[in-house]
Amino acid sequence: MSLEQDIQNNPTIFGKILRGEIPCGGGKIYEDEYILAFKDIVPKAKVHIIVIPKKRINDLRFATEEDRELLAHLTLKINEIAKLAGVFDSGFRVVSNCGPDTNQQVPHMHYHIIGGENLSDNFGGKETQSQK
Ligand code: 5GP
Repeated sequence: MSLEQDIQNNPTIFGKILRGEIPCGGGKIYEDEYILAFKDIVPKAKVHIIVIPKKRINDLRFATEEDRELLAHLTLKINEIAKLAGVFDSGFRVVSNCGPDTNQQVPHMHYHIIGGENLSDNFGGKETQSQK
């Protein structure tokens, strides 16, 4: 399947954004042939960016050897996107939710880049005994 067909068949909200059917909401930060980065519509910190591959991959659990170059590109572009968002020097967190226990809302693989302020030490899970 071509990338264009893949985008046409993408039923998720990120598919609608890729097809231009809805705006990306918070604003586009970066785009190239393979990936798109935009501000999260419900930011969980001062800076909260979503980076997606244009190819549909439900989440990282479904990535295959075929996706090696795409995922390397996506991951290496995080630095450039963090610079564009002004958080490269101050630091940032990269998160990718994968499946039910993470309450993943959108089944199209994405990285969250979160920063712009000091982040809590936990990753959003319940406080464990060892952390108390
Ligand atoms: P997940 O829970 O799947 O890891 O994260 C999905 C993220 O996408 C959420 O943080 C949510 O706020 C964001 N989001 C969902 N729909 C839209 C949208 O239409 N536009 C933008 N910019 N972000 C969205």
